[in-house]
Amino acid sequence: METILVLTHVDDRGDTLARSSLEALTAGVSLATRLSAPLSIGVVGGDTATAVHVLAAIEARVLAVSGKAFQQARYSTDAAACEALCRAAQASIVIAPASARFARVAAGVALRLGGVIDTHITALGGTSEVEANRWFYRQRMEAILNRDARPWFLLLDPGTHPAFDGVPGPVEVEQIVVELPATRTVVTGVRSPMQSGETIRTDAKLLFVAGAGWTKKQPDGQVHSSDAARLILDFLKASGASLGSSKSLVDQTGDNQTVLPFLTHLNQVGQTGSTPRHRKGLATCCHGEEPHVVGWRFIAERRAVSLDPNCGWTRGKADIVYIADAFQVMGELNRLLQSKPE
Ligand SMILES: Cc1cc2nc3c(=O)[nH]c(=O)nc-3n(C[C@H](O)[C@H](O)[C@H](O)COP(=O)(O)OP(=O)(O)OC[C@H]3O[C@@H](n4cnc5c(N)ncnc54)[C@H](O)[C@@H]3O)c2cc1C
Repeated sequence: METILVLTHVDDRGDTLARSSLEALTAGVSLATRLSAPLSIGVVGGDTATAVHVLAAIEARVLAVSGKAFQQARYSTDAAACEALCRAAQASIVIAPASARFARVAAGVALRLGGVIDTHITALGGTSEVEANRWFYRQRMEAILNRDARPWFLLLDPGTHPAFDGVPGPVEVEQIVVELPATRTVVTGVRSPMQSGETIRTDAKLLFVAGAGWTKKQPDGQVHSSDAARLILDFLKASGASLGSSKSLVDQTGDNQTVLPFLTHLNQVGQTGSTPRHRKGLATCCHGEEPHVVGWRFIAERRAVSLDPNCGWTRGKADIVYIADAFQVMGELNRLLQSKPE
């Protein structure tokens, strides 16, 4: 019989569980139900008292490591907290979100417990034993893994499960005391880009992809990069979409060509870029070649605007392709969005 532990942590505000933790909860509760296995939930944070209320509806043992030392992410304290929670729960299966906070400690904690870990898990199946799904070879092949070694840590990719949303209420919590390890890292503050400068929005419903066509010569023989920049930024502002790019476009930065200044390699989608998860995707001025489209594996509804009727999108890679000039299409789309009542 497996004993399942879901490791969670509070979010940066400190009063709710982080979204990725709520997703791990959905996966853990469903697995425990299918296997009829006992479930524990471990919570790490400065003050976990309010955040645990969301767990009221779950039949589980709730364990917490809290206190000032656990308020902010730090390898030594987070690893010590997770290790203590795993030992207290005596878990054979540990499910944790691949959040920035847990992704860097989970492998170390598995090693301390003599266990094994698999990362980038996208789904958990099985009714008599645990089956973990993972994509390989840049999301081209999906494998189902199972292992005999225990404890088995499974790091879930964010965006793969709906966030758990239970009716909140009082919860009985067992506080686990952790002997504080020596710490060398002191978090003095957080520096992050200004909100207005952020173009990668992992929670957005729509992924908007810009391709190299935006900076190519247009039918009038001229390049219109500043118009492209304005159209793209106006659309991102009006729609709240996340911005992706093809490799050809972001690579231009290093080639001294006219570029869109707000794009970096972090925006690149594809085989050597990211594989984001959004409900819908709209590609513009992009050819839809396989090394790019492989990054669209988890985009449910795909549309593209391209001048080329023979582009990869029209060859079965998009649901709908508009053979049209993206400058005109996006200009009209922005006009419609801006005239929409609030
Ligand atoms: C090992 C390897 C890894 C790679 N990894 C990646 C990766 O991770 N991600 C990635 O993106 N690529 C990757 N590539 C590159 C990939 O094969 C393509 O070269 C790249 O995706 C092409 O980018 P693009 O479609 O933006 O540019 P282009 O191929 O130049 O296409 C531009 C398109 O814009 C259209 N266009 C121009 N003007 C307009 C307009 N006004 N309106 C509408 N359409 C217009 C043109 O018709 C054209 O179809 C990789 C390649 C290799 C070999």
